[in-house]
Amino acid sequence: MSDPLLSVDGIDAAYGQSQILRDLSLSVERGEVVSLVGRNGAGKTTTLRAILGILTPSAGTVTFDGDDVTHRPDYETVARGIQYVPEDRQVFPDLSVDENLRLGELKSKGAGTLTMEEVFERFPRLRERRANKGSQLSGGEQQMLVIARALVGKTDLLMLDEPTEGLAPQIVEDVIEIIESINDEGVTVLLVEQNVQAAMSVADRHYVINKGQNVFEGTTDEIRAADDVLEEHLGVG
Ligand code: ATP
Repeated sequence: MSDPLLSVDGIDAAYGQSQILRDLSLSVERGEVVSLVGRNGAGKTTTLRAILGILTPSAGTVTFDGDDVTHRPDYETVARGIQYVPEDRQVFPDLSVDENLRLGELKSKGAGTLTMEEVFERFPRLRERRANKGSQLSGGEQQMLVIARALVGKTDLLMLDEPTEGLAPQIVEDVIEIIESINDEGVTVLLVEQNVQAAMSVADRHYVINKGQNVFEGTTDEIRAADDVLEEHLGVG
């Protein structure tokens, strides 16, 4: 078997004196959708930040596409093809949909996974809203926009932080469909979710973390069968 696209091996990470991640490991194969789930404050966002290089791990390694990127700054990992869509979406409210996308295009320097035209083919709703300002979009449309903006950059691995948060159930389904369709086109996805049902409906494998440590890893069937994990670490079951 070939090496995983992303391999996180035994990382520790801290904010100042407060250690958040402890010996955390996970891997994502090319073409997979993998979820990282856990309760509030478990360290999910911190894990994504440590992978990207916003925060440098104090121990362990992060390997992406065969290269050790543990001590690389975020602009380098982004250039290598990791895109991160944060929880707060960061749509520029005063810029139009078109302008928001062009910013992603500028950053990609022509190496994007999708062109603007391809984005509009795949996200017809964004074409309709093209001239609207970011602030005029619904939560679902904003989520669509930030995913699309990531894809006009070079995206081998798309890391999504709670993309379904605050969205109505019907819109959650739309976002899940979007994740499935971009994965069908070859984009590998690492998904952080509070919504365990959403994570189980879209991801192939799951990592459950608690207090910055791995507590469970398995397929969707395995996690569904693990009542104790669902109850203790995810508050469902
Ligand atoms: P959530 O769903 O609430 O975002 P999470 O699993 O993503 O949860 P993190 O955001 O990674 O959790 O936070 C893990 C821990 O790190 C929490 O205890 C949080 O208070 C702490 N933390 C997060 N950001 C900082 C920061 N910038 N400085 C200090 N502590 C932080």
